[in-house]
Amino acid sequence: MKLENYEVHLPNYSIGNTIYDKIGPVCESYGKKVLVIGGEKALAAAYDKIASYVEKTNLEIIGKELFGKDCTYATVEKLRALPVYQEADMVFGVGGGKALDTVKCLCITDDKPVFAFPTIASNCSACTSVSIMYNDDGTFLKPHFFVRPVMHAFIDTEIIAKAPCQYMWAGIGDTYAKYYEATISSRDERLEHFTALGVAVSRMCRDPLMDYGPTAFADHKKGLCTYDVEQVILAIVVTTGIASIFLTKDFTPDYNSGLAHAIFYAMTSYPVIEERHLHGEVVGFGVLLALLADGQYDEFEKVYELNRAVGLPVSLEEIEITEEQWEECMNRIPDMSDVAHYPYKVTVEMLRDAMARLKERAMK
Ligand SMILES: [Zn+2]
Repeated sequence: MKLENYEVHLPNYSIGNTIYDKIGPVCESYGKKVLVIGGEKALAAAYDKIASYVEKTNLEIIGKELFGKDCTYATVEKLRALPVYQEADMVFGVGGGKALDTVKCLCITDDKPVFAFPTIASNCSACTSVSIMYNDDGTFLKPHFFVRPVMHAFIDTEIIAKAPCQYMWAGIGDTYAKYYEATISSRDERLEHFTALGVAVSRMCRDPLMDYGPTAFADHKKGLCTYDVEQVILAIVVTTGIASIFLTKDFTPDYNSGLAHAIFYAMTSYPVIEERHLHGEVVGFGVLLALLADGQYDEFEKVYELNRAVGLPVSLEEIEITEEQWEECMNRIPDMSDVAHYPYKVTVEMLRDAMARLKERAMK
């Protein structure tokens, strides 16, 4: 085996309902002038709380900007051209995946200190070293990888608990997928330290959701910030971020995806998926088929029950995909890049059999 040389930067984070207390101790060593950039709803939900905590520090907020609409290179350039950005010592990114991905692409590239203030728990952008870039027409462009994540993520569970609950709902599906896809796509391989850590960590993308998912979702629907809600936020935002850093080596996401994501991407050809459904919602449905195709029937049963308990889809009807469309998907899925690195060739027969078993389960 050849010796490897690589550097790893893991996410730093704090979590809790009064965690903005840490803004001073964590950020003051990076300078004084802060520019806050975020989404409209995110700033409405979090700006006042952030500002009230900043007042107790030596920091000074010199501006508050909306990030834009999508995470595109054009959006990044527009922000980069702002005089207030040039003047700022650091940036606070506030929002969901797109706002945080935008400030990461802006600041990490410029080596300007950047901090994340996630306001929803739908994804792990606050803790990963990648931004998902879009084209100007809103379609997916590519992942843009960085050497490190943000300097620190301030995960305020009170703000997240009060956000609309469909984000955490979808986040649950995308998070447990990480465990199943990492373990299946790395099966029977002799993994080096880096990837092996990622696979080991991915276990924590599943277990807390099984234990706390249904109660956390019920609490979140009432806007309550409870221990169970916190455990699920940790799984979605932190664990998934750490796992995905370790599962992406040399910019190849071989272990970071799998059949559930292939099913999702095959279905994005139908506008109803982008228009009326969320990424993690459809991926969570795809996991059911991936487990059946893999012969993990006991595990399938557990995820099926979890999906039923929180209302994630268990049938094609729930994601508004017709039998004809599924027939087309089955032909596309075996050739998708998400299953290029898989322990066996995914076939149309395998998918057909998995769907038949899923329908059989629904009759019970
Ligand atoms: Zn995903």
